[in-house]
Amino acid sequence: MGKVVIVTGGGRGIGAATAKSLASKGYAVCVNYRAREAEAQAVVAAIIAAGGRAIACAADVANEEDVIRLFDQTEQQLGRVTHLVNNAGIVRTQSPLVDISLERFTEILTTNVTSCFLCCREAIRRMPDGGAIVNVSSAASRTGAPNEYVDYAASKGAMDSLTKGLSLELAPRNIRVNGVRPGFIHTEMHADGGEPNRVERLSAQIPLRRGGTSEEVANAIDWLLSDEASYATGTFIDLAGGR
Ligand code: NDP
Repeated sequence: MGKVVIVTGGGRGIGAATAKSLASKGYAVCVNYRAREAEAQAVVAAIIAAGGRAIACAADVANEEDVIRLFDQTEQQLGRVTHLVNNAGIVRTQSPLVDISLERFTEILTTNVTSCFLCCREAIRRMPDGGAIVNVSSAASRTGAPNEYVDYAASKGAMDSLTKGLSLELAPRNIRVNGVRPGFIHTEMHADGGEPNRVERLSAQIPLRRGGTSEEVANAIDWLLSDEASYATGTFIDLAGGR
């Protein structure tokens, strides 16, 4: 059976690097995006140019109907989904909890956690012969990100808990569920202006003295999805430069 993977938020950043990397290893890839179609199509074009198979699919992964359509479309065009990377996520500007609105808190939880629940549920309904899922969490799930984004950290903590619980629930069905917890990775998520020398400040706090790349995160996701990780479930790889 061919390997078919959905990468949520696959049009840019960590998701794009993961989509390209998995395609190079023989997966047919559905590159999901929410709004930025041109970037997702560029990822698909790069995969096809390199001899791989890929489609782009617009879906808000926090929306139940969209998620069902995402899986239907992938199955129709690429075949049965065997692997899933829950990568889509958002963060908002740094702020102490007292200034975080209910609207913002709900948006973060819905985008980062409800999406993971919906996509995992849809995937396991369609994985009769086993499979593998990787959830892209964050080092913030362990630090709590005080005075910065406790809402985001809480969403990633919930994702970790979902990963652990699901891994145990699904082990008898040979569906492995693992997570990666990146630290500071150079993507648009950190492009928010306003703070001069942000990269230097963050890098100085990291034992390896630099942020990571999307490709370095993709490498870990690749491994966790692969048969080489066939005895790994319910585990997390921390990718934070030693922090
Ligand atoms: P980016 O901001 O570069 O990309 C985020 C991606 O998520 C985009 O492709 C975006 O789609 C997609 N997305 C957001 N909301 C939705 C939605 N509702 N439905 C579908 N897609 C959506 O982020 P990164 O690549 O940096 O982050 C990827 C993951 O890694 C996130 O889960 C993030 O929390 C996590 N992470 C990142 C770290 C970092 O330092 N960069 C550190 C730790 C964790 P579109 O382009 O269409 O808007």
